[in-house]
Order: sequence, then C-alpha cells, then structure tokens
Amino acid sequence: MRLFKNGKIYMERNQFTESMIVEDNRIMKVGANEECAAKYTGTEVVDLEGKTVLPGLIDTHLHFLMTAEYLSLLPITDVTSMSELIQRTTRYIEENGLTSEDIVYTEGWNHTQFTDENRLPTREDLDKISTIVPIALVRVDRHMMSLNTAALHRFNIHKDTELEVGGEIQKDVNGNPTGVLTEGAVDLVRSQLPVKTVSEKKALLMDTMRLANSLGLTSMHTNDAKDENIFDTLKIYEDLDADGQLTIRFYQQIWFNNGKYMPDFLNSSYAFHQGTAWNKIGPVKLFIDGTLGSRTAALREPYADDPDNKGILTKSQEALNQEVAMAVDNGYQVIIHGIGDRGIETILNAFDQALDGKPNDLRLGVNHMQLTSGVDLIDRVAEKGYLTYVQPIFIDDDLPIVYDRMGTERAEGSYLFKSMKNKGIHQSFSSDAPIVSFNPFYNIQCAVTRNRLEHPAEQPYLSEEAMDIYEAIDAYTYEGAYASFEENEKGRLKEGFLADFIILEQDIFTVAKEKIKDTTVVSTYVNGKEVYKKEN
Ligand SMILES: [Zn+2]
Repeated sequence: MRLFKNGKIYMERNQFTESMIVEDNRIMKVGANEECAAKYTGTEVVDLEGKTVLPGLIDTHLHFLMTAEYLSLLPITDVTSMSELIQRTTRYIEENGLTSEDIVYTEGWNHTQFTDENRLPTREDLDKISTIVPIALVRVDRHMMSLNTAALHRFNIHKDTELEVGGEIQKDVNGNPTGVLTEGAVDLVRSQLPVKTVSEKKALLMDTMRLANSLGLTSMHTNDAKDENIFDTLKIYEDLDADGQLTIRFYQQIWFNNGKYMPDFLNSSYAFHQGTAWNKIGPVKLFIDGTLGSRTAALREPYADDPDNKGILTKSQEALNQEVAMAVDNGYQVIIHGIGDRGIETILNAFDQALDGKPNDLRLGVNHMQLTSGVDLIDRVAEKGYLTYVQPIFIDDDLPIVYDRMGTERAEGSYLFKSMKNKGIHQSFSSDAPIVSFNPFYNIQCAVTRNRLEHPAEQPYLSEEAMDIYEAIDAYTYEGAYASFEENEKGRLKEGFLADFIILEQDIFTVAKEKIKDTTVVSTYVNGKEVYKKEN
C-alpha cells in the first residue's frame, strides 16, 4: 500500500484533490491529505510536491509495431526539399554499403513541405540516387509510395500489373509506371518487403513501450494485426504478455484491408474482448478512403486544386455493408477509416444498415472524421451515438494544405472537434503513429491551440473549434477507456479503478498553451507499478 500526498490530482473538470492511496494494482482512495492520511496504515509515502497527476494516457488509434519498426528506419519526415530527400537517401546508401540485394525502405516524405519542387517524387527523381539499389519511399500518410526503376523491377511492377484491391499504379503518357503508387498498390509492395524476425520485433516493441511510458502513455488501441499477418502479429503481443513484459495495455484493432481475410479470423478461436487486462481483442478495423495530402480521401465534390478528382472509395457501398454486417453479426465492434465527406457518408450508411434501428451497443466508430462540411454527417453521428477517433496533431501537417485542397467552405467544415463535442459525440484522441509522433502532448497542444507546433500560423485554424484543456485531457483518458468499454476501470482516478497514472513536471492545466508540447513526465505507473521514472 502506498500513499501519494500533496499533489494536484485531476478528478474531472475543475475538480482536483491532494492524495491517493494505491493498493496493489488499484486505487483504494482519493481525497484531501487529512482524509487519506487518516485512512492510511502503510509506511510508503510519496510526496508529490504539488505536481499534477493525470490518469494514464490512452492513444486510441496507432500502429504500434509499425511505429517500433519505423523508429529504426532512415528518418525523412523532416525533409523540406526534393534535393534534400535525394541527398539524404544517397548518403544512407553509401554509409551502409547497400547493394542491389538490399532495399532502401523508409517512410515520411511530404511533398507539400518541399521548398524547391512542390511535387511527388517519381522514379526519375529516385534514379538520381541509385539505379542499382531498389528504393521505396513512402509518403508521410502511408497512402502513397515512390519507387525508383530498380524497385519497380524488384517488385515486378510494369505496364500491365493488376491490383487486387483499390489503388493506382500511376502511368506516364506511354503507359509506363511513373514510380508513384497509391493505396492498394502501396500494399502490394509493402507485402513483399523483407520482414524482421519475431525476436527482432519483440525487442523493438520493448524499446518502444519504454519510450511510450516515458511520454505518459499507459494504454493503446493498436492497429498492427492485418490481413494475412493477423495471427502471427497477435501471437507476438500474446507472448510478451505471457512473459509479463507488457507495460502498456493493448487493445487490438484487427485490420482487414482485404475483406477476404475476414471469415478466417471470425471463424477462428478468437472472440471480441478475449484476452487479459494487458492485451485484448478489440474491433474489426476497415478502410473506405485515403487521405487529404495524397488527394485520395473520397469527396462529394472534386478537390479544389484538382477539379477532375474526387478521391477514391476503396470499396463499394455494398462491399462495405457486407463487411460491417459480418463483423457485427459476429459480435465485433467496428472502426472504419473515413476522411472525406463521401467516405464518411459511406461508413455511416453501412453502420446504419448493420444496426437496423438498434442502439449502438457495439460502439461502432469512425476513425479520423475529418471533412464533415455541412452538418448532416455530424448530426448522423450524434444521433446514433457513433464513436469518433480524432487526431488533432494532423492539423500540424494539414494546416498548410487544407484550404488549397478543399477551398474555403470545406476547409472550414473540417476538423470540427468542438462542434462535435458540443453535440455530445464521443471523441477520443489518437496519433495514428507512425504517420506522426505518438507524443500525446503534441496532440493536446494542437487541440487547444488549433495551430502548428513549430511554425504557428498567424491565424489559428478555426479557433472556435479549439477544445479546452479539460476536454483534451478527457479525450486522452476517459474517452479512450470508453472506446474499449473500460470506462468503469480506467480513464479516471477514482476509487476501485486501475492504478494507471502519471505525474507531470509542469502543471498542464495552467501552463501557456504553446508550451504544452514540452510537458515532461516525472513518473508513469501502470497497474500500480512504476514503469518509468525520469532521471535527474
Ligand atoms: Zn491508422
């Protein structure tokens, strides 16, 4: 039994208390110093010295194993020009002595941030790096990839290559691949990459859990188990769990990019919510469209800066209806990626049809929920009680492009977090790492400032859509717990709840909004155990 005293312990909006007694893995009591001291019979006392205590943070959509692998790749997310992309990759090949047997695979370029040539890298660009070593460079949103000629050969992509799922192999006027791939074509390449061994993956996961704990994260809804790799991927987490190695609680989003893999999983011995307090089977995860940056998000009207393009629906309404119905009939929650208004509409149609007038007891939800111009989509979500999973950190990347892509009216009908909150919509925060960092304080800062982190624009993006700090913290705690049906177990610091909590160096409730991103964690507790302690 341990007593934490003299803290600023967050209970809920405008409510704080000073002390907390933790027994084993649960919070036994919270209250004023005197109250808890009177109740406490143990000898272990931690003086919080006035520091702020929050429930452990919950990221409700990211790709944790991918993030772990990503952190070991050539970093290119901060590249700001085509020439720098070429230089950096060239140096990497030289330094590592790579040959035609190897491959350079990394992720993170963003051509909208290129200062020299504001366009997609093609095979001609990448052939300047090497004509021998295959190179595959994925865009920051992971929905687009550029290959050099050696990589096109390695992956056997040519004039006549057919795709099994939606996407595009872009061609030049002669019908030859330009090296640019989107959506399903990206997966075609990714599925042929050399894979890490199971023990390499476990080691990367362990390292990355430590990093996540140091940033205050204690739970994650991870989206790693996918298509043909579902069973192998789940096994990795299960092994670590059985060995008592997990310091993050995982909720597994089971990703079907290709619906043909669904029946096998649904007929397997897995069931929704099966697992342990550390690792549970979560929702079926599906996709309906792409992203704004790649102009693949499915829109009702064409892109403002590409008048012939309305984006891509990765499958038909009927196909999505069928997949959702299959998941729901098997008792699974469902989360679907929807960014454009046409994509989101297609998702809501499928949800409505699957529920057939019944309440949303399975907590079906929309991931991203970006372009909701006009009010009908938000109203439909509010009325049916669908969940939303949002990523305020995307404002950091999208602020420079959203007006160009959408035009003013639709740009001002996107990322309507406060409007959704005001309609009572459940909204949890997530990072979608590795697209961006999973540092939760970046996300919280974007939510409350509606601005970029490093180069804030003079005018914040729709400042009336800013959340206040309480709403942002709750979106990372209470709402995260709600999304996994655990709101009576975690997400708040209450008697009987799991002792998952973090102690912050600075007071996130009073610090200047622009400084939230610099928040540091002093200690992270999961299941009553300190899993991270800041060194002085
Ligand atoms: Zn994702």
